[in-house]
Amino acid sequence: MVPVFTPDVFPCGCLVTTLSEQVILRANPYFYLEFQQAPKAQQRLSDVLTPASKIVLESFVMPMLLNMGHCEEIQLTIQGNSGERLPVLVNANVQQGDEPLIFWVINSAKQRDKLYQELVDLRNALEEKAERLELLSQTDELTGLLNRRAFISRAQLLLKQAHRHDQTCSFLLLDIDHFKQINDLHGHACGDAVLRQLGQLLQKNCREHDVLARIGGEEFAIICMDSPTDSAAAFAEKLLRLVSAEPIDGIAVTVSIGVATAGQLSFEQLYKQADLLLYEAKHAGRNRLVAALYPADI
Ligand code: GH3
Ligand code: MG
Ligand code: MG
Repeated sequence: MVPVFTPDVFPCGCLVTTLSEQVILRANPYFYLEFQQAPKAQQRLSDVLTPASKIVLESFVMPMLLNMGHCEEIQLTIQGNSGERLPVLVNANVQQGDEPLIFWVINSAKQRDKLYQELVDLRNALEEKAERLELLSQTDELTGLLNRRAFISRAQLLLKQAHRHDQTCSFLLLDIDHFKQINDLHGHACGDAVLRQLGQLLQKNCREHDVLARIGGEEFAIICMDSPTDSAAAFAEKLLRLVSAEPIDGIAVTVSIGVATAGQLSFEQLYKQADLLLYEAKHAGRNRLVAALYPADI
């Protein structure tokens, strides 16, 4: 038996319209059912489209049909009877004759749009997650400051910049005095609270372009750009005074600071010098700073 072969049985909207005004002459039942339209006399294709799609039809689809005689995979939106927006993909052919006609095939694109939207949402969620992970990988969990790894990479970048512009750079290495005793006397949780609050105090007193990080257990580092020895030492002195001025979490805390300033040292060299100066400050009795300026050819 030969199967039925009319537009009525195909799962897509089939329309025949006039070429000039796109008045709908024939439409299959699928068109009315799927796109929730009621047949009307002298209905034009543009009558069932959203305002934006009407513009696409007039300014893009019709010129293409008049020029080339066909168009493919045009995305339009039909406005259903109750105002819903129904995305569709449209192919059309012009058939010349006494009265030129356009044959339209209109496919629902609801699923495709849904899938596409799901992909967009998924991509956005992944991007957000990647950003959060990136941030987490740079952050010290306890204090919220930069961690050692992030500090090293930012400091290296800053130093390269400083060298290029002939600027000096100061490296402050700050270590809590007798922190082990604080833990032993008051407990590890108290020690953690001291670290957090000291981190906040340092952050409050750093300038916008300083790079501050917790780079070890009770060790913090600050890189200050274009900061001569005197002003870096004055900054370190201010921090010393602020820390010792008031108990942190009810505990008297002091710090020792090594301040190395240089014009042309590499990050590793500057770090090493700051570490030696910190060691000197510890040995000189703690709660103090030792600062030094290094020549380019150390
Ligand atoms: P110094 O004045 O010579 O620096 O003595 P110190 O006791 O501060 O130095 P030491 O290196 O002997 O001890 C550091 C202590 O810091 C030991 C370690 O348990 C503690 N510590 C390291 N990380 C953390 C942390 O995240 N939380 C707490 N509460 N303690 C930590
Ligand atoms: Mg210490
Ligand atoms: Mg230490």
